[in-house]
Amino acid sequence: MDEDITPLGHEVFQIDTRMAGYDGITAAYLIRSDRPCLVETGTAPSAPVVRDALAQLGIAAGDLATVVVTHIHLDHAGGAGDIAALYPGAQIVVHQRGARHLADPSRLMAGARLVYGNALEHFFGVLAPVPADRIVALEDTGTVDLGGGRRLDSYYSPGHAKHHVGLVDSDTGDLYTGDAAGVYLPDTGDLRPATPPPDFDLETALASVARFAALRPTRLLFSHYGPVTEVAQTLDRSAEEIRLWVEETRRARAAGLDLDHAVAMVVERTRARYAAFGPDADPALAVKFDRISGDASNVSGIMHWLDKTEAQDQVGQLCGLRRRGQLGLETGRQQQVTDRPPGARRGIVGGKALG
Ligand SMILES: [Zn+2]
Repeated sequence: MDEDITPLGHEVFQIDTRMAGYDGITAAYLIRSDRPCLVETGTAPSAPVVRDALAQLGIAAGDLATVVVTHIHLDHAGGAGDIAALYPGAQIVVHQRGARHLADPSRLMAGARLVYGNALEHFFGVLAPVPADRIVALEDTGTVDLGGGRRLDSYYSPGHAKHHVGLVDSDTGDLYTGDAAGVYLPDTGDLRPATPPPDFDLETALASVARFAALRPTRLLFSHYGPVTEVAQTLDRSAEEIRLWVEETRRARAAGLDLDHAVAMVVERTRARYAAFGPDADPALAVKFDRISGDASNVSGIMHWLDKTEAQDQVGQLCGLRRRGQLGLETGRQQQVTDRPPGARRGIVGGKALG
């Protein structure tokens, strides 16, 4: 079997998507059940890598029943359009808040281009649209039918992204964590948070990690990267990492540092925690780690959240003074948005709607 494919038992296979040419940073997973399911697509340029791996695993173009993405960031769902075209019978399952962006990726791509500029194509490629009638939108919970009584249960888990879900395999107890529990580097066992702009939110991120722990999974399958069996300890660490990066970023911000200096300070103060940055570590590991959990991305995501919450607090206080908190409450509440594209199905319940 190809070195990009790692069998994980119970017909689960980890596939190295070779994101931007790196090995071992971004995984997709095949569940080769009666109704075969791909979890995560990787980037658009990874689609041929994923297709070759699926072919080796005996999955032909007509065989794939579903593709589920934990969220619509391009390292997880960038290949959704290409994979949908390669597997015409597959339905593409995504949280309802991400659904319309898969159907029409123009806004998502424009935003990504602002962040990455000319490096966008190299690292992530271009997300092709997914036909809206093949998109299945998940609500707060949902079910993907894997066939033979086996299913994936989805749990809304925002904080890293407002369109993020975790997925539990009913047969194995595996939890596909996406990026909600941070990123894990198997070479060193390091775990770092993933707190990018514009969605990062401390309370919801911690609540999602707690929700994962409450599901009592038997194993964590990180998109970055691979399986971890020390579940409780690892999720504790996920929460600790998020809290620590927020605390350090808050400190840098309180000192009046601009973003570059804040990043330098947070890196300096957290560096010793990670073996990948140790004096004996292969320098390639630090590059890999930064690719999937970038210092600048993490710190700017936290800064963005701090700016937002502070502004809300100020408005809240102002309004509270005038109207005893009535308006303040309103400004603090998340607006309800329905992001489901026209034509997309409702969230699947009870494993039926995917038949
Ligand atoms: Zn990611």
